[in-house]
Amino acid sequence: MKKETICIQGGYTPKNGEPRMIPIIQSTTFKYDTSEDMGKLFDLEASGYFYTRLQNPTNDLVAAKIAELEGGTAAMLTSSGQAASFFSVFNLAGAGDHVVASSSIYGGTFNLFNVTMRRMGIEFTFVDPNCSDEELEAAFQENTKCVFGETIANPALVVLDIERFANAAHAHGVPLIIDNTFATPINCRPFEWGADIVIHSTTKYMDGHDASVGGCIVDSGKFDWMAHKDKFPGLTTPDESYHGITYAEKFGQGGAYITKATAQLMRDLGSIQAPMNAYLLNLGLESLHVRVQRHCENAQKVAEFLSAHEKVAWVTYPGLPSDKGYALAQKYMPDGTCGVISFGVKGGRAAAESFMKELKVAIIATHVADAHTCILHPANSTHRQLTDEELVACGVGPDLVRLSVGIENVDDIIEDLAQALDAI
Ligand SMILES: *Cc1c(COP(=O)(O)O)cnc(C)c1O
Repeated sequence: MKKETICIQGGYTPKNGEPRMIPIIQSTTFKYDTSEDMGKLFDLEASGYFYTRLQNPTNDLVAAKIAELEGGTAAMLTSSGQAASFFSVFNLAGAGDHVVASSSIYGGTFNLFNVTMRRMGIEFTFVDPNCSDEELEAAFQENTKCVFGETIANPALVVLDIERFANAAHAHGVPLIIDNTFATPINCRPFEWGADIVIHSTTKYMDGHDASVGGCIVDSGKFDWMAHKDKFPGLTTPDESYHGITYAEKFGQGGAYITKATAQLMRDLGSIQAPMNAYLLNLGLESLHVRVQRHCENAQKVAEFLSAHEKVAWVTYPGLPSDKGYALAQKYMPDGTCGVISFGVKGGRAAAESFMKELKVAIIATHVADAHTCILHPANSTHRQLTDEELVACGVGPDLVRLSVGIENVDDIIEDLAQALDAI
């Protein structure tokens, strides 16, 4: 099926007399006739549900749809995008291990890696996504377990050369994890360019309506864990906390990674998405292909308007031919990039603040990538924990304004921006 059809029909095919919509299984527990039946589930001998902290049928159907959209073999939903980022890396790396990450990533991910996961004993080397091959090569260590980057970085809007990063990761026998939140599988499928694992903050375009926080992890099934047995003992040697199961043997290349993340990380850390939220996420997925296209059309027009305006100092949008990321965007996302634009108003930090106060259609919100046009000054909000040096290092200068173009009538959005710029 093509992606438009998968958005509507993927993941769930009702049988005779079953509900047309993915049902909400709002139940913590599941009933079995005998203890032996349930024992088989605990041993991972049979598949089925026993407790929603680990798995829930509603979540699994929605995850299956996202796996189909990305072209992967297995997927799981998480309570948030943050949980997805954490699980995706922690499923491979522990204390004493090392990870290479792009420096142009979401601020929350940067803090998760640079502060919280460092505290757990995992080391990170951040590389500029446009660094030289030598610099990229030099970032790897003996104990490197994966590489992490974003298709289009939030909010720096830097486009990652996925193929180059995948080749570098594979040359060192480790997988590439891509946060594909901004591009969505409608505009880019990182697996087609060599990525091994994709994660999403489904809170953004996938949900698309400011309704529910969530995340997703998808495995391509392409990474051969057994070929790098010594690097990934968690997947390739018996798990004593699970009756000595070796995930890569029992569940194969296509299932090992997600099964381990479910059996160990969901069991111990419990960041499951509520079934009700998974249902809402599915509603968003059904119109994802239509909304993403409109977001991109609107954003293109807004970016063109802003770049021609005399009070605007600079505009970053990978759909503009003058943009640094344009060539990469044309390669990886020929049908459109995302609805998010970053720009600077002449006059810097202070001008950004007074401009934003004048807006009426665009609302100030700590959010992006949904139906409503919204705007944010990261240096004063999401990124305020970062020093000015760190801000520049992750591509978010103190004057940067992030505009998430919604799917309202684009003329209203442009008129609003024009009056606010006139007023300063
Ligand atoms: C929002 C976001 C996250 C974090 O997701 P939450 O659902 O807010 O936890 C991760 N990556 C990107 C690119 C994001 O935009």
